[in-house]
Amino acid sequence: MSRTGKSLSLWHATARNHRDRPALEGRLDVDLVVVGGGFAGFSTALHAAEKGISVAVLEAEIIAWGATGRNAGFVVPNFAKMDPTAIIAHLGPERGDRLIEFAAGSADLVFDLIKRHAIQCDALQNGWIQPAHSAAALERVKSRAGQWAARGRPAVTLDSSAVQELTGVRGYVGGWMDRSGGVLDPVAYARGLADTAEKAGARIFEHSRVTAIDREPGGWTVRTSTGSLRAAKVLVATNAYGAALNPVLSRTYFPLRIFQIATAPLPRAIRSRLLPGGQGVGDTRRNLLTFRFDGENRLISGGMHVVGVGADNRVPRAIWRRLATYLDLPDLPPLQYAWSGMAAVEPDFLPRLVDLGPGLIAGFACNGRGIAMTTAMGKVLADWAGGADAVDLPLPFAPPSPIPFHGLMRYAPNMLLPWSILRDRLDERA
Ligand SMILES: Cc1cc2nc3c(=O)[nH]c(=O)nc-3n(C[C@H](O)[C@H](O)[C@H](O)COP(=O)(O)OP(=O)(O)OC[C@H]3O[C@@H](n4cnc5c(N)ncnc54)[C@H](O)[C@@H]3O)c2cc1C
Repeated sequence: MSRTGKSLSLWHATARNHRDRPALEGRLDVDLVVVGGGFAGFSTALHAAEKGISVAVLEAEIIAWGATGRNAGFVVPNFAKMDPTAIIAHLGPERGDRLIEFAAGSADLVFDLIKRHAIQCDALQNGWIQPAHSAAALERVKSRAGQWAARGRPAVTLDSSAVQELTGVRGYVGGWMDRSGGVLDPVAYARGLADTAEKAGARIFEHSRVTAIDREPGGWTVRTSTGSLRAAKVLVATNAYGAALNPVLSRTYFPLRIFQIATAPLPRAIRSRLLPGGQGVGDTRRNLLTFRFDGENRLISGGMHVVGVGADNRVPRAIWRRLATYLDLPDLPPLQYAWSGMAAVEPDFLPRLVDLGPGLIAGFACNGRGIAMTTAMGKVLADWAGGADAVDLPLPFAPPSPIPFHGLMRYAPNMLLPWSILRDRLDERA
């Protein structure tokens, strides 16, 4: 297996639209500072700059260094756990409706931005498919598709033969598809957003780690080791990579380490019978099985670890074996790339804005659906930067709420994985 070597991921190794940015030097005044150069940061910067707001993005490493540059590239306009009726029950009709509408249009927003700004990122808006692995899961996805369709979304249920036709994989009992979802190259997309934000007037600084955000009369001073920015408003968009900057914030979510692999390109004979339409797939298993192709016909999948020791070698091989078995591919080409990244997952798996002080907000919209959701979050945060009250935005907004016993609880998703795998197997036999 060849590794990503110095690259952080397949996408960092292969995306072509790279351009360096300088580190922050000296002192600048802007309206809005964004801390973190991922989808959330660049979508906010782009939408804010388009409104004529002066904005600067500070990234500790390079553009898309975090989850943005290490994900699988599925563009998914729904929530990982809750469907619309559950969201209404959880948040109430008014706030629930606003959050549902926010998510419903999120994939369209991504693909519209890509088209409008001619971002070259292998984007394909051909649908996101969720096949059902059991009869009980099929009932859930039928209800899910119905709820989204009732809200005017292009959601369709699929019988087992339709799933087989679309995916090339046997054994699923049915599923559903949101036709507005799709796939893209996340690094090329993030770099494209950054370029576009810059053209609209945003300033972008790499290798500019924020070390402090200090309250001042009328705003904040954001400091790096080589400079500082003064602004009335600051967005912390560091997702699961911001623990050093704000330890309290880091106790409000579960930091999940997720592994990804890409095989060597598939020969035409095998490629043509799998995913002929090029959609993204994430099934209903608790130990989620995902797959898609990149622009070079590499098969991409992901997974998690139970025990961290030795995981860098062990887990990618296990994901590859699982793909070969579940997709019935005895001739699956070898692993070519393996990498991992950290995702922030909220206890209720919903996006949220965290109130850190007057004019200081942290935005979390990850929960495994970050491409569509963080892009959409950036658009509404630009409204906030332009003067809208944060409580009027479609995302829940509240002070930080640390998870009790976080030191221990943060390992729960990994420790529960064997139980999830067992339950998946029992479901399949039921
Ligand atoms: C392996 C993996 C697979 C995934 N697959 C998918 C998928 O297929 N589809 C999907 O929708 N979502 C997926 N996700 C989730 C998605 O990638 C994230 O939700 C999204 O990228 C989060 O973007 P972000 O901008 O909020 O944060 P990030 O992309 O994590 O960016 C945070 C940035 O903040 C920077 N930073 C941290 N501290 C500082 C500081 N002090 N100063 C300056 N900068 C700082 C970091 O360097 C980093 O670049 C996946 C996540 C992972 C990890």
